[in-house]
Amino acid sequence: MRPELTTRQVRDGIWQITDMDKNRAYLVCGQERAVLVDTMEGIGDLRGCVEGLTDLPVTVALTHHHHDHVGGAYQWDEVLMSATDDGFWEAEAADHRVVLPQLQERFGLDATDACPGCYPVVQGSRPAVRHVAEGDVLDLGGRRIEVVELPGHTLGSVGYLVQPDGLLLSGDAVTPVMTLFYADSTDIDGWEATLRKMQGLDFGTFMTGHHDREFARGDLASWVELAEFSKMDRGMHWVNDSLSYLRGQLHVMSPLDMDPDSEDFRGLIEREKPREHHGRRRRRSAEE
Ligand SMILES: [Zn+2]
Repeated sequence: MRPELTTRQVRDGIWQITDMDKNRAYLVCGQERAVLVDTMEGIGDLRGCVEGLTDLPVTVALTHHHHDHVGGAYQWDEVLMSATDDGFWEAEAADHRVVLPQLQERFGLDATDACPGCYPVVQGSRPAVRHVAEGDVLDLGGRRIEVVELPGHTLGSVGYLVQPDGLLLSGDAVTPVMTLFYADSTDIDGWEATLRKMQGLDFGTFMTGHHDREFARGDLASWVELAEFSKMDRGMHWVNDSLSYLRGQLHVMSPLDMDPDSEDFRGLIEREKPREHHGRRRRRSAEE
């Protein structure tokens, strides 16, 4: 079976594209050009899918460096991303090569050599990168996209704010299971500052890299509450199923019987904490 992509129109001229592992990309069309925000894992012919939706020239814009956002980018010559998040391509491709056979087995997908065009990371070549930063504007004709820096999940994460729609495409900057356990994640305070910045931006809804749901700007209060909760909570040890070197300290604010896949779930994973008395350890390392 070939890896499939599904599409769903979420606004006039805006589509959500979903791969088989439920990663999301967004195609935003203006009158003169289109922007593809994120490219998912790299299972499926994303470029063919996009060209089936629009004849406009397409610019690819990435929210951050993770493999489940940059995989399809290998079908294009050039992408936009923050300078801070550029430079992780080899590490992400290595993670993709671990995840890909797992996905092929789980979904009964064709082998890599039997399916040309299906697996861009291993079949294509890495795109050139043009850097974007806070305040950059992409003019699509009748629509514009503003770059908003949203550090937290990764230090160089950005969101793409579509105007005049008031729709923020925020990648993994704010998610029901918030992940701040990566080496280049900020601490909880750094992410909370991003949440408060977002609360002051001019948008009504935001959409993430992994969910169907449109979240409201007002929902951000529940994540501020999660940040405050997580700073007080001792938490529990957590290890990722697919990539076992990923581990951290999990804080669950939702009732323990709530499905973590629910879009109403609120949990946060930060980097592992030492087992010793936290206050003492932190003071000592601050002196080093
Ligand atoms: Zn990510």
